[in-house]
Amino acid sequence: MNMIFLGPPGIGKGTHGEIVSRKYGIPRVSTGEIMREEVKKGTDLGNDIKSYMDSGELVPDELVINIIKKRINQKDCKRGFILDGFPRTVRQAKELGDITKIELVVNFVASEDEIIERITGRLTCRKCGAIYHVKNIPPKKEGVCDNCGGELYHREDQEEKAVERRMEVYEKSTKPLIEYYRKEGVLKDVDVEGGKEEVSKRINEVIKDFTESRGT
Ligand code: ADP
Ligand code: ZN
Repeated sequence: MNMIFLGPPGIGKGTHGEIVSRKYGIPRVSTGEIMREEVKKGTDLGNDIKSYMDSGELVPDELVINIIKKRINQKDCKRGFILDGFPRTVRQAKELGDITKIELVVNFVASEDEIIERITGRLTCRKCGAIYHVKNIPPKKEGVCDNCGGELYHREDQEEKAVERRMEVYEKSTKPLIEYYRKEGVLKDVDVEGGKEEVSKRINEVIKDFTESRGT
């Protein structure tokens, strides 16, 4: 099952991607995470990537496409995968279509106010990458990860200015993908306002409808 989770930054694609990944036993592939790992290594490539990410700009297509090609060729992606944060441009979508068949695109739909609130309140674990929200998904103990005890922090690209830029970039470069995949007949809208459990249920329904319709 090859899926894409599509939607604005910070809307919960990562959180729900993890849930679905566990349920179906297929990996969640996040280009943002892969690139943050590269940045951590402090390589030349990493430093280059960091400047784009911190300012809320897209990392150049070529670079990201190479990363994703390598990743989905790995063995654990044979039975399928959930792409989170890729594609982000029509060019990325086209190149992806050349190397694999996308069967389902889950489109996360929410109002702009909701999006801004979610992204600015988000906390990430330094150690395991788990995601929290100051209001919606608070950790049991402030500043500490429930899973691993790691320190929670505010990602640099979640500062207000970078967030605004990321929203602009989303509107201009990524939103056209909604029509792109709708035309291909693989897009399903999911309303993602409301609690995590509720949203999770809606996503599961969409996936279940899809697997039943293709008879697996
Ligand atoms: P979020 O989870 O908040 O939506 P990501 O972790 O997916 O954010 O991405 C963070 C940053 O990494 C982006 O703002 C962008 O700079 C870079 N990035 C991630 N995926 C892509 C992509 N497919 N194309 C270009 N840049 C990307
Ligand atoms: Zn953790």
